[in-house]
Amino acid sequence: MSDQYCVFGNPVAHSKSPLIHAAFARTTGEDLSYTARLAAVDGFSEAVFEFVAMGGRGANVTVPFKEDAFRLATRLSERAERAGAVNTLAFNDQEIFGDNTDGAGLVRDITHNLGVVLAGKRILLLGAGGATRGVIAPLLACQPASLSIANRTVAKAQALSEAFADIAAVNAGNFADFAGQSFDVLINATSASLAGESLPLPPGIFAAGSLAYDMMYGKGETPFLKLAREQGAGRCADGLGMLAEQAAEAFYVWRGVRPETAAVLADLRAALGG
Ligand code: NDP
Repeated sequence: MSDQYCVFGNPVAHSKSPLIHAAFARTTGEDLSYTARLAAVDGFSEAVFEFVAMGGRGANVTVPFKEDAFRLATRLSERAERAGAVNTLAFNDQEIFGDNTDGAGLVRDITHNLGVVLAGKRILLLGAGGATRGVIAPLLACQPASLSIANRTVAKAQALSEAFADIAAVNAGNFADFAGQSFDVLINATSASLAGESLPLPPGIFAAGSLAYDMMYGKGETPFLKLAREQGAGRCADGLGMLAEQAAEAFYVWRGVRPETAAVLADLRAALGG
């Protein structure tokens, strides 16, 4: 029987992970099956143990279980420890290994797929939730000139700044606090686009030639990318590449083989109709 993997979420039917990992398995020749598994909101660990008992070898974890997975893991990677959340589990003997590939996925999409150098750049992260927390250390590892976090609730941005102060200084504020400054790379990690809402960004915040990156993806332009285009960002990208790259990194954690993402990314883009 093929090695079994899955994604746990609630809801999970919309997940593109089964499609992505099936494509990776085909192109790398790895013999595995990958399914989506719905876990009850208060039943994550039971769902994991059931899957392990069936012979499951590994899993991805999506909303709302990344923090449950962090607590369930018996060993954590350094990047998962830093992120405070786990999106990739590997089951070996009695061990539940927890990793977080979201930050690596974002950095690879920006630097490899989009060809944007992060070293020496002024980066602004918008939002201070789980997604932001997961990408701070990988972004700092790229040696930007500065990293700033703007969030509606300023205390959450400040807490993140303090949590990463041992790596580098991270500026924190609300959106208005960054008036008069401009940035080379602006990453929307709020869930505002999900609700179709725009962010109250001060004018002039997009430097000439800047990259505007929305972690969200879907059909059509997000409100953040529309605003970025109107305010003169040089380049706009959504989070579909991050999705494909975090999956490729998880595949590597499980199988020791790194799949190419270009073909699957093109298929996902076509399926979204753009
Ligand atoms: P969280 O719920 O942890 O955090 C949400 C953040 O968005 C908070 O900072 C919140 O601010 C802010 N926010 C929500 N609504 C608004 C609004 N109307 N105006 C301003 N700020 C708002 O979510 P996550 O961090 O887990 O996820 C954030 C986004 O990233 C989601 O869209 C998710 O889909 C995407 N994502 C994409 C991935 C990919 O692979 N492409 C991977 C992971 C996440 P406040 O603190 O003030 O409430």
